[in-house]
Amino acid sequence: MGLDQALLYIVATPIGNLADMVPRAIEVLQCADLVAAEDTRHSQRLFSHFDIDTPLMAYHDHSDDVRTEQILQRLQQGQTVALISDAGTPLISDPGYRLVREARARGVRVIPVPGACAFVAALSAAGLPSDRFSFEGFLPAKAGAREKSLQALESDTRTLIFYEAPHRVLDTLEAMAQVFGGEREAVIARELTKAFETIHLAPLAELAEWVRADGNQQRGEIVLLVRGAERRQDATLDAEAQRVMKLLLAELPPKRAAALAADITGVNKKTLYNWSLEQK
Ligand code: SAM
Repeated sequence: MGLDQALLYIVATPIGNLADMVPRAIEVLQCADLVAAEDTRHSQRLFSHFDIDTPLMAYHDHSDDVRTEQILQRLQQGQTVALISDAGTPLISDPGYRLVREARARGVRVIPVPGACAFVAALSAAGLPSDRFSFEGFLPAKAGAREKSLQALESDTRTLIFYEAPHRVLDTLEAMAQVFGGEREAVIARELTKAFETIHLAPLAELAEWVRADGNQQRGEIVLLVRGAERRQDATLDAEAQRVMKLLLAELPPKRAAALAADITGVNKKTLYNWSLEQK
């Protein structure tokens, strides 16, 4: 593979098991002129394992503009730069956004080299609906802000995915049980691809109890997944109201259609509006 034009590669690295490193990632890291890494000492271990001796430079999203500018200049000189994070896919709860944004703005070609990503691995094995989901990253550390964030998600029907630190996992599960209800199904996916990999599904209240009873579940790296809220039933909406709404929705925005249909059918405006949202 010849790497002779200005390219910024975004390279995923393993989240635990080094055998998950994809061959293309090794090749790109070996051939690049420079690798920008979140923590150069951490990445040195990966480099030793795969016989990579490309120069490393530290890069965080809070790196000063001088550092970002240095990388961009190297790119504009026609050098090939690869970006990696400590583990998994860069930019997913990891640095890189500023660099990618700026590189693209300056006409640099940005190329992803896909590989491991903790939340995708967790979702693929969790046993929760995976057709629609929302990746929420890390919740705020402070209890008040965390509860507020959870409340904003309470009626979201998509599977919700969070990264969480081990020392906060129990508090977070308890807060989730409070806000979403103890019966809502959830999964803890811990230490994925590593020796003590654990994927456990249970209702939130039970899951919190399970984690409390076993200190080992409060260690390592953790993804939490929560089943989305049940869809509101439209059983209250009779066939006639549905017929009127369908006709009106063909011509009008949902809010206006619901207001008119409420006048025509006598059905509650909000019920009609919610029904229209479910049709999308
Ligand atoms: N960029 C990474 C990715 O693609 O998944 C995520 C980086 S984020 C700073 C680190 C968080 O990802 C951890 O705190 C944990 O929530 C999750 N994580 C990373 N590796 C994991 C693993 N092997 N098992 C479970 N969760 C993991």
